[in-house]
Amino acid sequence: MENKLLILFMGPSGSGKGTQAKMIGEKFDFNYIEMGGILRSEVKKQTDLGKKIDVIIHKEGKLVPDEMVKELIKKALLENDHGKTIVLDGYPRTSQQVFDLDEILKDMEINKKIVVFNIQISDEEAMKRLTQRRICVDCKNVLPADSKNLNCPKCGGKLEHRSDDNPEKIKERLKWAHEKVQPAILEYKKRGVLQEINGERPIQVVHEDIKNKLQKILNSEF
Ligand code: AMP
Repeated sequence: MENKLLILFMGPSGSGKGTQAKMIGEKFDFNYIEMGGILRSEVKKQTDLGKKIDVIIHKEGKLVPDEMVKELIKKALLENDHGKTIVLDGYPRTSQQVFDLDEILKDMEINKKIVVFNIQISDEEAMKRLTQRRICVDCKNVLPADSKNLNCPKCGGKLEHRSDDNPEKIKERLKWAHEKVQPAILEYKKRGVLQEINGERPIQVVHEDIKNKLQKILNSEF
């Protein structure tokens, strides 16, 4: 199999991880996989699995069990073109998922070098951003807290708050970000593939930072 990159985006909800992952995917024409999006589309299908996921994400604000996301991510990776670099947004998020991903890549003989961008923001900033951000119901474009738009600037769609973006669910998500995601980040740090990014800067500045770091890696790898 082709030896390209697998770029993982980590960081708490509200860090801008999704926005940055999409920007990098578009800029470099990489494939893009979004774990949260896969889960939400499963919810939409209203399958038995989708109904379970709906409760976990929207009623409890918890992480979906490792085994469930493992199957979904395996399917998404199978459907992907492995001749290209892949941007993976929101997976892995626990230590178990780090090892599950290792196993999936080995089983599927996907031989990609892993690079991890961890976007850091404080809990206070995450809470502020998440309670105020809005999302387009049609194209899922995320509008930051300070946006004055009445409709989506990309497609004109209706804007609304995501149903899990309320203070109670946000607190729950920040709690698991510390307890569960932090050990996964440390595992990648140990492996020497972690790039720390200060997420408390304007979107474009963060993007330039990631782009420059990535360009250096690409220059040294290929
Ligand atoms: P996101 O769109 O990345 O904020 O994800 C939305 C929600 O989906 C999260 O709050 C979790 O409940 C769930 N989720 C996303 N990624 C994962 C994952 N890797 N493992 C378990 N649950 C996840």
